[in-house]
Amino acid sequence: MNKLLILMSVLLILGCSRTGTVNTASVKNQQMDSTKKYNKLTPEEEYVIINKGTERAFTGEYYNFKGKGYYVCKRCDAKLYKSDDKFDSGCGWPSFDDEIPGAVKRIPDKDGMRTEIVCANCGGHLGHVFLGEGFTSKDTRHCVNSISIKFIPYDKMTETKTDTAYFAGGCFWGVQYLIMNEPGVLKTTVGYIGGHKDNPTYKEVCTGTTGHAEAIEVVFDPAKVTYEKLAKLFFEIHDFTQVNRQGPDVGEQYRSGVFYLNDGQKKTAEDIVKVLSDKGYKVATEITKANKFWKAEDYHQDYYNVTGKKPYCHVYRKIFD
Ligand SMILES: [Zn+2]
Repeated sequence: MNKLLILMSVLLILGCSRTGTVNTASVKNQQMDSTKKYNKLTPEEEYVIINKGTERAFTGEYYNFKGKGYYVCKRCDAKLYKSDDKFDSGCGWPSFDDEIPGAVKRIPDKDGMRTEIVCANCGGHLGHVFLGEGFTSKDTRHCVNSISIKFIPYDKMTETKTDTAYFAGGCFWGVQYLIMNEPGVLKTTVGYIGGHKDNPTYKEVCTGTTGHAEAIEVVFDPAKVTYEKLAKLFFEIHDFTQVNRQGPDVGEQYRSGVFYLNDGQKKTAEDIVKVLSDKGYKVATEITKANKFWKAEDYHQDYYNVTGKKPYCHVYRKIFD
């Protein structure tokens, strides 16, 4: 049994390492997109990833590595493999019996025998794939150069799931100023929503003829702050009883509005309006389905923090417990 394993290993090493002699003149013929921005590679990385070389067996970072996570492309960061599909083949290179669907492309090797594997996104060389060796039930071995990939633990890979909200409550400078620092808010942008003209300018919106309202786009982390909390805050920082105006700013573009993206947001906004009505407020806020939000000119973004001024039209007052 031991002898068999050793023999297999030797064969596999030969199988994997032969690419090292591929001459680099053929590289120009490979479909690699050089117009995109990719990670800068070291000469060693370039030798393998671009020139289709092979690192020496048992020298790479991952052939005996057992961490739980994703392996991404060294060149373009595309997710290629999962640690769940990694197995110990004894060949001296990381081995996987499956790939992330669509992430790895198989192409005939120049040697006319083997099947080369490359990153489907950037065309970077990964190694070769072998079938029918019986290592695992999938009967497939992706023999990958460690230097072509980068390990990222699962917990570092969980991207924050974000949600978005749109509110209009008069001059967008003040609304942004009072919402942007709320914990869980990741990004705010001021702009125009609810109108009928594409690419509206501030000047056009000011005429009150485009139908747009000055509004704020709030991107938030729903694990840290709820839509309901943000919507309540929105009602607490502007006078929602004024029709088509907010303090000194008069016109349809200064109307109070919640622009919802889904039924959940709609119901939340309606429930809040009901609570306010029950408290005796005459609510002028319109609740409408969001259409396209147009980002305002750069000089409107984060206006008060950039200028060091303070809002003239918005102030926080507590309404909800
Ligand atoms: Zn890639």
